[in-house]
Amino acid sequence: MRQNNLLATTLREAPAEAETINHQLLLRAGYIRQLAAGIYTYLPLGRRVLRKIENIVREEMDVAGAQEMLMPSMQPAELWRESERYEVYGKELMKLRDRHEREFVLGPTHEEVITSLIRGEISSYRKLPVTVYQIQTKFRDERRPRSGLMRGREFLMKDAYSFDTGWEGLDKTYARMYKAYQRIFERCGLSYRAVQADAGAIGGEGETHEFMALSSIGEDTIAVCPACDYSANLEQAEVYSGEEDMLRKTDSLPAAVKFHTPGIRTIAQLEQELQIAPEQVIKTLIYQGGGQTFAVLVRGDHEVNEVKVRNFIGASEIALADARAVQAAAGVENGYVGPVGLSLPVLVDRAVAAMTSGTTGAGEKDYHFSGVVPGRDFILSQVGDFRTAQEGEHCPVCGKGVLHFHQGIEIGHIFKLGTKYSDKLGASFLDATGRSKPMIMGCYGIGISRLLAAVAEQNNDEQGLIWPMALAPYKVHILQLSVKDEVQRSTAEALYKQLIELGIETLLDDRDERAGVKFKDSSLIGIPVAIVVGKDAGEHKVEYMDRRLGSKEVMDIAEALSRVA
Ligand code: ATP
Ligand code: MG
Ligand code: MG
Ligand code: MG
Repeated sequence: MRQNNLLATTLREAPAEAETINHQLLLRAGYIRQLAAGIYTYLPLGRRVLRKIENIVREEMDVAGAQEMLMPSMQPAELWRESERYEVYGKELMKLRDRHEREFVLGPTHEEVITSLIRGEISSYRKLPVTVYQIQTKFRDERRPRSGLMRGREFLMKDAYSFDTGWEGLDKTYARMYKAYQRIFERCGLSYRAVQADAGAIGGEGETHEFMALSSIGEDTIAVCPACDYSANLEQAEVYSGEEDMLRKTDSLPAAVKFHTPGIRTIAQLEQELQIAPEQVIKTLIYQGGGQTFAVLVRGDHEVNEVKVRNFIGASEIALADARAVQAAAGVENGYVGPVGLSLPVLVDRAVAAMTSGTTGAGEKDYHFSGVVPGRDFILSQVGDFRTAQEGEHCPVCGKGVLHFHQGIEIGHIFKLGTKYSDKLGASFLDATGRSKPMIMGCYGIGISRLLAAVAEQNNDEQGLIWPMALAPYKVHILQLSVKDEVQRSTAEALYKQLIELGIETLLDDRDERAGVKFKDSSLIGIPVAIVVGKDAGEHKVEYMDRRLGSKEVMDIAEALSRVA
């Protein structure tokens, strides 16, 4: 590619709203442009990197036995009602109507579409297992689109779905996918960790791992043990503890790790059970007290008065009272959670009294939420045992290693779904004995566009991006320092032709720009190797620059060629 023709304007300054390095550099180097909040155009350079990532993902998915397909973005709302996610998914779900007023959504994920497809295509165990994937645009109306491609509202995802006849089959498929994910992230040159999204969610449905690119801008905190394999996402849980009375936010935050006792529900399982999508949960508050532990999942699809939410009191009796039961019993719209040691009927009494009298509960030992609808805005449930750990404390699993905490960017997520969707949408098969059974599903996502941003975030210096060879938009950047110098021009042209013939992706800076501008832009764009054709061109010499090492070496053209070939 001749840079003269390349649609890539470099910017000296990044727009003020770009706060993270990857966002600044991708804008400045001409990889992406914003159209609207969380919605981006990939310019030619960005598209090339994206395609490299896609192809690595494709290769590894194919090796893992997954088949590529492509599903529609526009999905009938009916399907989402069938899975009971239409309302539950919340405001992240983009909804629209066609000219006949039929309701649709723009897919944030494709469990519904794929499950409904497979139920029509497969009815016998003989055709299972099967795993399919696609690389496709997803839509999520994120509350806070952020950091460029990192959290978009329209973004590229690889999503795969597996269908097995039983759990052992799923275990195998899952393990294969896990390995494929490791290879993908290694090939992308990422520093990453696979973590248990729920520490010790042993048995039952919903084992899940997240793949985290390590980065200080990551929104997740993960605990890692250097001595054993233990690593876990701390999730967004805030941990409260206290005596029977008032439960307070634990001082040790944010260094809280949840250690779920086997057999006890985890937050993710709870979300599944309560049919509340993780996307919807803006905050999970965990309360310990009176010998019990509760979680309040605060939903993000309604303005919640956080101060009042924080005044919530949890207590042993409340553990019995699902907030929805309180609501139903009280027959009122406002949520209420009462003080310690009260039975459900007393609670409901108090709730009604408090709400009809319009008190806020402040100053008394009663606290409640106002303007908040249980079930819609929060869900209360018992979660089980955990304790908190501090960075530097011994690992809860091996007891030997000392825990480190890191910030991470979630670049991939794999999940054993079990029968959640196959039950709801009726995806069943006949086994060898002719009995009908639900298919056992798994799903596996990678944020392709987020991955691009994560790689950029991990690979740069003050001067710009530094692409790993496998993802670089071009492998070699020829800088012809003077366009007016005929020797330089013919030398650069000849070199360019030779590299193209060798099948090496090359960008030729043939612009009529000052040498300083060319060097600056080259460092900003981050192509791994630059070959400078300058004043020594007449002696068949060029300067060979390694972007990562920052090294410069004058050598014969033949030598430079053999290095990149
Ligand atoms: P997050 O916790 O960051 O909101 P998620 O858990 O909602 O992500 P998943 O539903 O697990 O995301 O989707 C699979 C993958 O898609 C994620 O692991 C992530 O890499 C990517 N992804 C999710 N949301 C976005 C987004 N808004 N922009 C870019 N990539 C995203
Ligand atoms: Mg999300
Ligand atoms: Mg997540
Ligand atoms: Mg996830």
